[in-house]
Amino acid sequence: MSSRSLHEKLRTNTSLSILFIFFAVILLGMLWSGYQTHQTIEASKTSLPTLKTRVRHLYDQTHPDFLADTSSMEQIEALEKDISKENKRLNRAWTFGYAPLKQEKQTVEKQWAQLTQTAEQAKQKQTVLDDMNKIFEQVTHPVQELQADQLIINDLSDETDITAYEKHLKNLPKDSFKIIAQQAFDQAKEQADSLFSLKAELNQYVPKDKITNDPSAEQLAQISDTFDQIKSEKIRQVYQPKMAIVFDKLFELDKDALSNNDSSDKVAALTFDDGPNDTSTIRILDTLKKYKIKGTFFMVGRMIANYPDVAKRVAEEGHLIANHTYYHPDLTTLSPDAIRKEVNDTDDLIEKISGKRTTILRPPYGAFDSKVTAAIPHKMALWNVDTEDWKSHNPAAILEQVKIQTAHQNHPVILMHDVHAESADSLESVIQYLIQQGYRFTTADKLLKYL
Ligand SMILES: [Zn+2]
Repeated sequence: MSSRSLHEKLRTNTSLSILFIFFAVILLGMLWSGYQTHQTIEASKTSLPTLKTRVRHLYDQTHPDFLADTSSMEQIEALEKDISKENKRLNRAWTFGYAPLKQEKQTVEKQWAQLTQTAEQAKQKQTVLDDMNKIFEQVTHPVQELQADQLIINDLSDETDITAYEKHLKNLPKDSFKIIAQQAFDQAKEQADSLFSLKAELNQYVPKDKITNDPSAEQLAQISDTFDQIKSEKIRQVYQPKMAIVFDKLFELDKDALSNNDSSDKVAALTFDDGPNDTSTIRILDTLKKYKIKGTFFMVGRMIANYPDVAKRVAEEGHLIANHTYYHPDLTTLSPDAIRKEVNDTDDLIEKISGKRTTILRPPYGAFDSKVTAAIPHKMALWNVDTEDWKSHNPAAILEQVKIQTAHQNHPVILMHDVHAESADSLESVIQYLIQQGYRFTTADKLLKYL
């Protein structure tokens, strides 16, 4: 009996021991795992600042919305990989539902989520920037280059570029980067539309190197308008040869219209001296364009050198550019060599800008003598209506002079100065008055015989 109970006692003790060891092992395991989880969280906390710094370096410090000019897709993707590795390690860490550990983990997880999101934004921005590099030339820095007024567009023949770009743009966070990228995109789209129309119009009327299908003057003017909408100098240059054909035809149609009418017909030439500049000349060009009138610009060489882009626009919009010397001297006071230099230097510039060499000169102050006409072969182009705009600087007075001096003049060659703001102010009223009086418009070279 007693030996049996001892036996049982021993058995119970052994079971208890096994049980004890079993629980001890589990407890030690849990403690060990818990320690490991804690270590993982600590490691995660330690690597956070390093990766945060890497993310911060992707952005321009002065414009946090923008990418830094040093960022690249490879850089961003490597960073994303490292962030995801840390995220996975943290996810595997087991907290056993132990509240303090769980809380600690959640806090770190939140910071990683934030970092992941920022890296994702950087990736979206870099994608848009890469798109733009495909569409535009020289987008080297996201801030400066995207804010440039006129982006040079690489190649718009492939419209899918722009559609893909639009899709990527939609994903961007709403910040200044998106606003500027959107502007650049709109510009590209506008250019693409204009180019598409121009190609179609030119294909129809100027398929090769001459005009076919006999377009009307209005249709040609339409092509010229479409061409004006294209801002990229690179694209303009590509179409310049065909546009020159269009402009020549427009001139020809103008001339025919003139010779078909008898000399009693009323035809006026608006002439603008001393320019170009980049203020009033531009307003004058806009007004002439509004009324589809071709004017004559007697340009000063020094001003062409200062504002070549404006001079180019004058040429491209079909106006006549003629010579008004280089430094605007009184030619009668110069030696023959000096006269030739004044005139030839300006002729060279005009030819460079417009592709055409002029043979018409308006001598400064209208001053010329036999020495001047012997030195150069140019036709002298004066005027028969002087608006005295340089004297009055008053739009009402300018219009008044036009009214008085054109009263008995069927072929007025009207002298104005495109370098004065008041002359630009007066132009629309002058044009409206002349239209009202039944005048049509031409360039000064067609009316030289009336001077
Ligand atoms: Zn002058």
